[in-house]
Amino acid sequence: MEKPAAKRFQPRGRKVKILTTVGPASRSPDMLRKLVRAGADAFRVNMSHGDHQTHAETIHAIREIEAECHHPIAIFCDLQGPKLRVGSFAGGKAVIRHSGHFTLDRNPEPGDETRVELPHPELFGLLEKGQRLLINDGKIRLRVIRAGEDEILCSAEVGGVISDRKGVNVPDAEIPIPALTEKDRKDLAFAMQHGADWIGLSFVQRGEDLAEARRLMGGHGSLCAKIEKPMAVRRLSEIILLSDAVMVARGDLGVELHPEEVPPLQKRIVNETRKAGKPVIVATQMLESMIESPTPTRAEVSDVANAVYDGADAVMLSAETAAGEWPEEAVSIMHRIAAQVEHDDAYLSRVRFLDTPPDATTADALAHSCMTIADTVPIAAIVVFTGSGSTARRVARERPSVPMLVLTPSIKTARRVALLWGAHAVTTRDIGSFEEMIAKGKRMALRHGFGKAGSKLVALAGVPFGTPGATNLLHVVTLIGDELKRHTS
Ligand code: PGA
Ligand code: MN
Repeated sequence: MEKPAAKRFQPRGRKVKILTTVGPASRSPDMLRKLVRAGADAFRVNMSHGDHQTHAETIHAIREIEAECHHPIAIFCDLQGPKLRVGSFAGGKAVIRHSGHFTLDRNPEPGDETRVELPHPELFGLLEKGQRLLINDGKIRLRVIRAGEDEILCSAEVGGVISDRKGVNVPDAEIPIPALTEKDRKDLAFAMQHGADWIGLSFVQRGEDLAEARRLMGGHGSLCAKIEKPMAVRRLSEIILLSDAVMVARGDLGVELHPEEVPPLQKRIVNETRKAGKPVIVATQMLESMIESPTPTRAEVSDVANAVYDGADAVMLSAETAAGEWPEEAVSIMHRIAAQVEHDDAYLSRVRFLDTPPDATTADALAHSCMTIADTVPIAAIVVFTGSGSTARRVARERPSVPMLVLTPSIKTARRVALLWGAHAVTTRDIGSFEEMIAKGKRMALRHGFGKAGSKLVALAGVPFGTPGATNLLHVVTLIGDELKRHTS
């Protein structure tokens, strides 16, 4: 047994967050601990792989590490969603010839180079002539010649090797299946039982998909819509409105659309989600070559940097940390890239290139003021007192120049803001009075490394305390030696 880390968790010194996927390469408690030290702020448990027993052990290990380092960590359970797959083949695989014919049917017998089962009855009678079927991450491209009730005859525009249970993308049709399969329902129940902070919903097509997930979540956890279908892009504003966060799921999005359509969409999705004041995550292939190599390509470094310059709340690692050979290096390089960008003098002006005018609410007026105060006088941190995290999200939306210390009595809120730009959460007991709030804000800022004697803080809260949506108080305070003495004694 390794000894618990005695040292207090140090602020990361960067505002963008790192969401790290756990898998066989990273699920040992030792490796998880290393990843947290290297910069992982939140962990993604991918329900597409592994079993509940393994996931339960992973979640347990993360919670232990969280307790060791006294710093909230978000757990993001990602549901597989209605990922379509072909059946299996005699001998495990077959070769589809370029410009030959290939048939998808309802016959469960093993497939060959002419046909295979498509075990999704919804697709028969739905697909139309001219529509595309993309197999194995788009490597094989079929176009429908004739779609009947029992058979879909296709021409293979691009052939290749097809093997058992390969994924199928159907970008041209809206599929009348809900975003939650039977497996997803079981996985969601498991995630809720194990206290997941975030649920990722894959292949969202419409607002109702989110409503259904929300109903099953029964008021627990937060919901992240993964944008990976053209249909979701078309309904982006509705989907953002109904989610708590959004992921630019570039992997499947780049299969369902052309890859060159993804970069402009990334910018649009990031901007629209930022305007709504909700966290947005840029995901997939960010440091892909690090699955095998200890150093990333220059293009990958630029890609991560550009997501940070776009003002994303979080960047994600997938196979790099789940199954790669260099999980710790991938996290630490991602951390270094982010820190480097955030030290660029031009960083903030680039991030603020997006106009996010405040809503006509007191909370937004004050959140906006926090930003302008920190731009006008030297401020060490914005200290936000919040129950639900809503005030923290409105401040983060302003992309202030200084870090935000989020003080909350709710461990759930503290974990949830692990994906929020610029937020460093600390749980505290309930606060009773204004004096107590100011004293606690100063003490926590000192204790957690957000300022020293002489530093100024901006405190933001709602009184009476514990009234949701009552943000109405902004106070600028100076840390003096007394607090410092009390802190060090
Ligand atoms: P996935 O989602 O890794 O669960 O497929 C992300 C993506 O498609 O980019
Ligand atoms: Mn995906």
